Amino acid sequence: MDKTIITADYLLDAQGKTQKGWGILVRGAVIEKAGPLNDILSVSQNTEAVDLGRALLSPGLINCHNHLELTALGPRIHRTKIFTDWLDEVRELRDSLDDDYLVESTVQGVDESIAAGVTTVVDHCKSGTARKALESKPVRAIIAHELIAFDRKTFAESKPGWKERLAWPESERFRHGLAPHAPYSTSKELLEWVKRYKDERDFVISMHTLENPHEVEFLETGRGYFHDFLEHLGILQDDFDPPGVGPVEFLNDLGLLGKKFILVHGNYLTDEDIEIVRAGGTTVCYCPRSHHYFYHENYPLKNLLKAGINVALGTDSMVSNWSLSMLEEMRFVYENYEAVSPETIFRMATRNGARAIGEEKKLGCLAEGYAADIIAIALPQKSDNALKDALSPEAKTIFTMIGGDTAYKNM
Ligand SMILES: [Zn+2]
Repeated sequence: MDKTIITADYLLDAQGKTQKGWGILVRGAVIEKAGPLNDILSVSQNTEAVDLGRALLSPGLINCHNHLELTALGPRIHRTKIFTDWLDEVRELRDSLDDDYLVESTVQGVDESIAAGVTTVVDHCKSGTARKALESKPVRAIIAHELIAFDRKTFAESKPGWKERLAWPESERFRHGLAPHAPYSTSKELLEWVKRYKDERDFVISMHTLENPHEVEFLETGRGYFHDFLEHLGILQDDFDPPGVGPVEFLNDLGLLGKKFILVHGNYLTDEDIEIVRAGGTTVCYCPRSHHYFYHENYPLKNLLKAGINVALGTDSMVSNWSLSMLEEMRFVYENYEAVSPETIFRMATRNGARAIGEEKKLGCLAEGYAADIIAIALPQKSDNALKDALSPEAKTIFTMIGGDTAYKNM
């Protein structure tokens, strides 16, 4: 089987520490060894070597939240503080586009992601086009089929199509997941249907939750901002019976929270919510620049980390962000949270992402037996701290390997 030695000035090791003068021996799709270069060379002479120079070797970045099909729509959507206006605009535009456009849009998003060091993505896909787009691409993906149905009619009409998609064969690179869209766009009946799939097939479940503060009032009382929005869409059931609790308690009562549940955003998680999330081992996916895009303030990152929650990172899509670069998300955290260390930021973007999708024994780490998902970030000559330098504006991804195959190289 093919062997390759990959080296650079610095390497992020399995303990999250930076090592100098280390290398990685890749055999086929897997890391055979990561360690001091002398040790690597002693076990594999006459092997092809790739030296990436003044760069940091890091595990591939895991983007825990995206909607790749929306990539090309980015420039056509207007930034606004009024969330439901934005939802309306995105929904109308997406529904007006044909599948070929959305496949191309997804391909564009995958190419941008790989060039930015993303090796795995959790992709909310509503149109069902992701599989076609991803077939030709090396990226790993959880295709989280996005489910939107608040009323019974839409749910009944949508179910056959969803079941059909869930029958697609999975592969080493792509697996199914389910993405009930949000607490204000999914009925209890739909969420119970998702729970049955979760139990039967152990899917990753990903859901926008507490992205917006009005979700609480809607679930507690059935009134307010989202009541008016659903009424405007004509899909508010006359007999809608709000659960009378906030979204986190509601999802927990349904048995949905826990391992392999990705609570996306969590912008308005309270201390009580955080305790429920922590107790179940749920992942929270923070989307730093999407949070900023909607002018939200004070993300509870420090409280989440202090509570020991598995916090992963996501870009969200190009309709609420300026790029699909995870490195830029990481830089945003670095520049805005003095108390969060570069080591923690890299862990959120790698190991925590792997844990979010139940792949912590395979992805997110440069160590023996892990998948050879490796990136190199070229470092500016700034300090002797490679992780800090990797988060500086001048740093950029120059190499992306996925499963032992070079997917991107720009040196
Ligand atoms: Zn999203």
